[in-house]
Amino acid sequence: MSVIQLSVTQLKARLCWFYLIFLFPVLPANASIPLANYFNDTWSTQDGLPHNSINAIAQTTDGYLWFATWEGVARYNGREFRFYERSDKTGIVDSGTRALVSDDQNGLWVAGARGGITYHKDTKWYPQPVAKNMVNHVLKDSEGGLWIATEGLGVFHRPHSINQGQQDSESWYLENTSAYRLLEDKQSQIWAATEKGLFRLDKNASHTPSTNKKYEDVFKQNGLPEKRVYSVIELKNGSLLIATDKGAYVLKNGRVSLLHSELINEAISALMEDEEGSLWLGTINKGVFKFHDGEIENLNAEQGLPNNRVLSMLQDIEGSIWIGTNGGLLRLRSAPFTTFTSERQLVGDYVRSVISLDNDTVLAGSSEGLSLIKNNKAQPALDNSATKLSVLSFAKRNQGGAWVGTYLNGLKYWQDNQLFDYLDQNSGLPNNEVRAILEDNQGNLWIGTTNGLVKRDTEGHYQVLGREQGLPDEYIMALARDNRGQLWVGTGVGVAVLNDNGLQNIPIQSQEGAAYAFGFWIEPGFVWITTDRGLIRYRQRDGQLKLIGRSAGLPIDKLFQVVYDGDDGLWLTSNRGIWRISYESAHAVADGKQQTIAFEHFAEDDGLASAQANGGSNPAATSTDNGKVWFATAKGVSTIDSALASQKTALRLPIVIESVSIDGHNIDFTEHNELPASTNRVTINFAGLGYVMSSRIEYRTKLLGFKSDWALRGKNTVAEYTNLAPGDYKFVVSARYPYSDWHNADQIIEFRVLPHFWQRLRVQVAFVLLVIILMVGLMYWRLHSLKQSEVRLKAIIEKQTHTLRQTSEDFQRQANEDELTKLPNRRAFDRLLKEKFEQAKQNNTSLVMVIMDIDHFKKINDNYSHLVGDKVIQALGNELLQLSAPDVHVARWGGEEFTMIIEGLEAEKAFDYCDSIRQRIASIDHSHLSNTLKMTVSMGVAFAHQVGHYEDLIRLADQALYQAKNDGRNCVQLWRTQKNNNRT
Ligand code: GH3
Ligand code: MG
Ligand code: MG
Repeated sequence: MSVIQLSVTQLKARLCWFYLIFLFPVLPANASIPLANYFNDTWSTQDGLPHNSINAIAQTTDGYLWFATWEGVARYNGREFRFYERSDKTGIVDSGTRALVSDDQNGLWVAGARGGITYHKDTKWYPQPVAKNMVNHVLKDSEGGLWIATEGLGVFHRPHSINQGQQDSESWYLENTSAYRLLEDKQSQIWAATEKGLFRLDKNASHTPSTNKKYEDVFKQNGLPEKRVYSVIELKNGSLLIATDKGAYVLKNGRVSLLHSELINEAISALMEDEEGSLWLGTINKGVFKFHDGEIENLNAEQGLPNNRVLSMLQDIEGSIWIGTNGGLLRLRSAPFTTFTSERQLVGDYVRSVISLDNDTVLAGSSEGLSLIKNNKAQPALDNSATKLSVLSFAKRNQGGAWVGTYLNGLKYWQDNQLFDYLDQNSGLPNNEVRAILEDNQGNLWIGTTNGLVKRDTEGHYQVLGREQGLPDEYIMALARDNRGQLWVGTGVGVAVLNDNGLQNIPIQSQEGAAYAFGFWIEPGFVWITTDRGLIRYRQRDGQLKLIGRSAGLPIDKLFQVVYDGDDGLWLTSNRGIWRISYESAHAVADGKQQTIAFEHFAEDDGLASAQANGGSNPAATSTDNGKVWFATAKGVSTIDSALASQKTALRLPIVIESVSIDGHNIDFTEHNELPASTNRVTINFAGLGYVMSSRIEYRTKLLGFKSDWALRGKNTVAEYTNLAPGDYKFVVSARYPYSDWHNADQIIEFRVLPHFWQRLRVQVAFVLLVIILMVGLMYWRLHSLKQSEVRLKAIIEKQTHTLRQTSEDFQRQANEDELTKLPNRRAFDRLLKEKFEQAKQNNTSLVMVIMDIDHFKKINDNYSHLVGDKVIQALGNELLQLSAPDVHVARWGGEEFTMIIEGLEAEKAFDYCDSIRQRIASIDHSHLSNTLKMTVSMGVAFAHQVGHYEDLIRLADQALYQAKNDGRNCVQLWRTQKNNNRT
């Protein structure tokens, strides 16, 4: 940043800046900021511009600045450029862009090479049908029609725009000419600036080349020679300003007149009227001319313009003037402070002291000498410009002019642009370093040196006051006289007051250890002291000391000078800029009625060439009666008009949401405000579109639905949120400049994070229901399966019981049954015999017992094998089984012996019955075993009535059998008593 030095044709206008950041409700009429009071900043491709030729500049209503270059369109947010290039999406058909025209709907027309025309609004592009040749300018008229100025082909009109336009409905107005600029004036008349002159176009006329004559060139109408017209604008007063290759003209009431004779030979390429009504004329080789009230100022490459070929100009909503040239971009901005440096004729830049001499005159002392600043102009304060001296301090001189304290040369005085020696080490000063001076009403001169305080009375007597006399220190930096006539002395280790009672120490050390007293400002009842711990208020009434420092919210300790501006402003200087606090608030804090103090901070961005204000000698700052405050800084003298500073009203700081991304992917947040359930990370980029102090803008954000508090973001322009629960959110961001209030121009976006399907209430309710149904189902199923298994278990038990019973029955049967023949065995037979025998005895019925034995069975075994023997026994068993009946019981008695019980068989019939059985047995066919095999049996028969016990019955039958064997076998023998006797 630098102060531009300008060649000013006339510099008569009253200095009046307006605070750029703030809007002032009332600007003095015909106020105009001298070019010298602007600060300039430049941008080129090195700063991120796509190309150094700035063909057009526009600002959309959202606050973005747009620049058209031969390498595409760049959008600027104060920190970085975003490029828009050739693509189907943008509708830019060639990177060469010539025209940028903004509207009040946040829209922007972009047109240029190869006939490309497109419209941008909010986040979207609306490509238009391509024109036949390069487009130099676009105009959307009040009826919605689009006028297009082309290179070489003239002007054509489309009745509609934005995707409704039909190329075949285009009407051509001026042909075979290059048209540069279009204008619709307040009467809705369309004007075209062309290489053949300025034409007024009639919307209702028919359009053939021959009708061109209808549009009479304004210059020819006025009897002037044809001129190439580069641009035309309508001024606030309703007249047209016309830029031609030979001067600027004004068209009013049909009459054309030259704007200013000085510009008659200049080729004017760009025009602008600023908020103050000043006219800005860009030329093709002389830079910019600023025209106001008949005065012209010029700004060209020598004063910092990147190039003398001016292509475009714009005043932004902050009031800054942007100038696009062939070699880059320049911004002129007015700042609250005006600074005078050696570039503006100040004698030396390292300024240590300033003092106001009258309403608008300030004397400034630097390390190189004395300057006067008067009528917004600095000049040497000495006729003898060769005089060099390092100035430390000033004081008003009762006899006129000012006392001048120096670094090396003692005390001098300045009067009528002359400097006079007064006192130095040789003539009574303890040393030559004079840091503070005061001449009191009695004419005593007080001189503060670094080796004590010197008093020189009117009679020329000297007195040196030092530590011995009661001063806390001999390094004197500040002197002041209060309305009680006391002298205040500021030193490196405290403050002393000198009155009729002598020197008294003021214990400023009690205020957080304050030591250095750099300056005083005295009002009735109070003394304000700037120290290395802040601002201290001393109350005369009771000597109370109160510190307004860090504990009250001031961000800095060391304050050099305090100056009251007469309008509630206390201005404090420091190594780190200039601070303004409210006089009322300062008292309120000192009285304990207020905890903290609000402040404003001013630094380089505000127009200071250096934020380092100097201190340690006096006065380092001063105010003039017209409300200006002046400051000695490490680079020049800076001044501010406190009246304007306190009039500031609303801040203007547009804020925009630049992008929203989900998990790293940008989305168009104007369309997609429903974020998928899978969203993990939401990133929101925003920007405050203030261009004066872009880098110092501070932000705060809040995400309603997540947290209702503001989150301070500092200078960070990104907010990131992760793992947001499903729901509705409202993101709010606001901005401010440092040490100022938050803007109420919040930017808000709303979005919704969709739930996963399982996070939806309906689904959750359904899920719970499903779980309940499942659980009930499971219970039922369990019960059912328990029942089932009970049944199954019962069946198994039954089956097993059955098997067990079966087995037991089998065992039972096996116990009573012969395995080979399946006939009852001997055990079963014996039991049966006992039972039947007793029955027969009881009932006195007959019972026959038979024992039969296979004859010569041994031989069968021997001759045919045991196996065959078994088969033979089986065959006999089968035969006997067939005889079984309710009253005939058969059994295998053992080996090849069988028994029979026949109930109810008469003794007489017994032989025949048994013998028939014997015969049947003998006739059994054994041919399947062997042809030769024969089997017979012998039988012994006994009767129950013959015996008293069943065992005797068996014995008798056995004896009978024995008899049968003896009788030759294959026969039946009944037991008879005699035989029995025989045998025994
Ligand atoms: P008899 O009775 O006519 O005097 O002559 P026998 O050859 O039948 O005489 P004995 O009583 O001495 O022999 C009976 C034989 O029967 C002895 C034994 O080897 C045979 N025997 C006994 N039980 C079985 C059997 O279950 N199977 C076979 N194959 N032989 C048996
Ligand atoms: Mg036998
Ligand atoms: Mg036998």
